[in-house]
Amino acid sequence: MRLKGKRAIVTGASRGIGRAIALRLAEEGADLVVNALHAERLAQVVKEVESLGRRAIAVPGDVGSCETAKRLVDAALTELGGLEILVNVAGINRDAMLHKMTRDQWDEVLRVNLIGTFNTTQAAAIHMREAGYGRIINISSMSWLGNIGQANYAASKAGIVGLSKTAARELAKKGVTVNVVCPGFIDTDMTRALPQNIWQLMMDKIPMGQVGDPRDVANLVAFLASDEARYLTGEVINVSGGMVL
Ligand code: NAD
Repeated sequence: MRLKGKRAIVTGASRGIGRAIALRLAEEGADLVVNALHAERLAQVVKEVESLGRRAIAVPGDVGSCETAKRLVDAALTELGGLEILVNVAGINRDAMLHKMTRDQWDEVLRVNLIGTFNTTQAAAIHMREAGYGRIINISSMSWLGNIGQANYAASKAGIVGLSKTAARELAKKGVTVNVVCPGFIDTDMTRALPQNIWQLMMDKIPMGQVGDPRDVANLVAFLASDEARYLTGEVINVSGGMVL
């Protein structure tokens, strides 16, 4: 119970990696505000968190809008009584080769992944720096190093690294740490949507020879959210079965 008494926001929590993080933080004792686009699946996650004996408040909405970020922080402060942890997981991909990528595909991915992470990080940081304590964990991707067909996604995930390292420097003296987790190839709806040949191509690149489980990412996030990780900030940590070394 490393997070007993802590209050956390998890975006993109209705399924996949976000859901696994929400449940892992709850297992460690945190109460939660959970966000995703669609209310129905989020309601299911609320029930799962409550069955672990923790509180969960659902705040559905698009993280690309700063109004959603404000609602998330307000819910934590007014309904849970505080906010110590923010985990930005909400993300989308709209893959296409650069020469075929539409401006809409570019804008949509940048808006959700990068502007979304900025909106919640800023709203939470305003509170955390006053409180003198905080843990911000942003989910990027190993694609931030560049990946064929993902100019928009890679740019958004690289942007998250720059944003997080800057926030880490600005907030270090305020007791707030900011770290980045880069999942490799994890078994979720997002990767299940890939064609079989791409799935196999990815598997061939993983030294451990197996796809990651969302809980592999959640275990690292739980550590970074805890007091045990007090001396880490501005780090970018891969969870990739050795795919990125
Ligand atoms: P997923 O598609 O299964 O889930 C995405 C979640 O984000 C859902 O809860 C969805 O409702 C939410 N979401 C999407 N758009 C949103 C918006 N505008 N506002 C609020 N919520 C929104 O994805 P996943 O595989 O669980 O990935 C989660 C995160 O991890 C993403 O940021 C993704 O880029 C990143 N990631 C995943 C992998 C992987 O292999 N699965 C690898 C690297 C990085």
